[in-house]
Amino acid sequence: MDCVFCKIVAGEIPADIIYRDEEVIAFRDINPQAPVHLLIIPGKHIPSLADLTEAESSLVARMINIANQLAVKEGVSEGGYRLVINCGEQGGQLVPHLHMHLLGGRQLSATLG
Ligand code: AMP
Ligand code: ZN
Repeated sequence: MDCVFCKIVAGEIPADIIYRDEEVIAFRDINPQAPVHLLIIPGKHIPSLADLTEAESSLVARMINIANQLAVKEGVSEGGYRLVINCGEQGGQLVPHLHMHLLGGRQLSATLG
């Protein structure tokens, strides 16, 4: 599968992985938009939020829970942070493997794009 995030999951390309369990991994974004910029992804290849089945929907709840724990570890929980999932071309999704951005460590814009 020619998917950059699947390759990170498989250890075929390097990434700064900060969390991993049987379902979810998290690593630092290669082009950070904030002092803390993490990506939280399912290990399984799900192309986008639009492809998530009802049976898989609890995975997103787990991703949010892990993001909240990582926000504490990264020291941005008290100051505040933003979780973003881009979906599809007009949603700004560039990598076609479901992922959640965790952004924090600076004042983020009040606008959402
Ligand atoms: P999106 O626009 O929501 O699809 O975001 C994709 C994100 O993946 C961008 O913030 C990229 O900087 C990030 N990214 C792409 N390739 C890598 C990589 N090999 N390692 C870490 N982050 C990556
Ligand atoms: Zn993938």
